Amino acid sequence: MTKKYMIRSDIEGVTGVVSYEQAAPGGSEFAFGKRMFMSDLMALIEGLNQGGVDEIVIYDEHFDGRNIDIDMLPQNVTAICGKPPYKADWAGGLDETFSGLILLGFHSKQNTGELLHHSYEPDIKDLVLNGISVGEIGIETAIAGDWGVPLQLITADSAGVKEAKDLVPNVASVSVKQSLCANGGVCLSAQLTAKMIQEAATEIVKNPPASEPWKIANPELKVVFNSGSYRDKFGELFNCDGEILICEDTVTGCWAEYWKMKLKAQEAMK
Ligand SMILES: [Zn+2]
Repeated sequence: MTKKYMIRSDIEGVTGVVSYEQAAPGGSEFAFGKRMFMSDLMALIEGLNQGGVDEIVIYDEHFDGRNIDIDMLPQNVTAICGKPPYKADWAGGLDETFSGLILLGFHSKQNTGELLHHSYEPDIKDLVLNGISVGEIGIETAIAGDWGVPLQLITADSAGVKEAKDLVPNVASVSVKQSLCANGGVCLSAQLTAKMIQEAATEIVKNPPASEPWKIANPELKVVFNSGSYRDKFGELFNCDGEILICEDTVTGCWAEYWKMKLKAQEAMK
């Protein structure tokens, strides 16, 4: 059987990054954040390949999805760039042929107070999936669950790792920095984290962790907004007040529906 892995990549949770000046494209220190991102990503790819994977697909979900240096990728890696929207029948390239999902460079959800905590847009106050408050880690893991794909490895700050383990207890993890507050933490050397990520990646291919796909039947996704013009535009366009409930057949479908609404709201705000 071919071994395929899906990587969802983000930047706020990579080695050494503690500020949006480092994480946001256009930020004054973004060159540093991007260098750390590629260091973590290349360590992950190298480790997966040492374990013997056939194929790796990356969906770059940070900002506009244009953070990967394609010229550094080996031939068995493809990258989905530019943030093409998820659709009910297209989960950012994920399907049932993948052996596992890996989250690289993730962070805790909005309002944890931990390092660079947020949930996708800063306008999102909370995402509640069938009664469980989730962030990006939970949404991506549940979307993979739709397709029977388990979250097998996460690299993040310590709060992101904890959030993933609360949802998927057996997931393998690398904590690249210890969160102390929203803009500060104890950062490990990039040489050390590269070694840790590489070793963890090889290990999950050789001995997959006993993590189950996180499957949500009859999903109901509640999106709760912070006050502001985005929330107001949602209210105006979709006749809601501060939150919206989305019910579709799958979590992928719910998220695709939210994404459609988001694009419509953002377009209307221009
Ligand atoms: Zn993020």
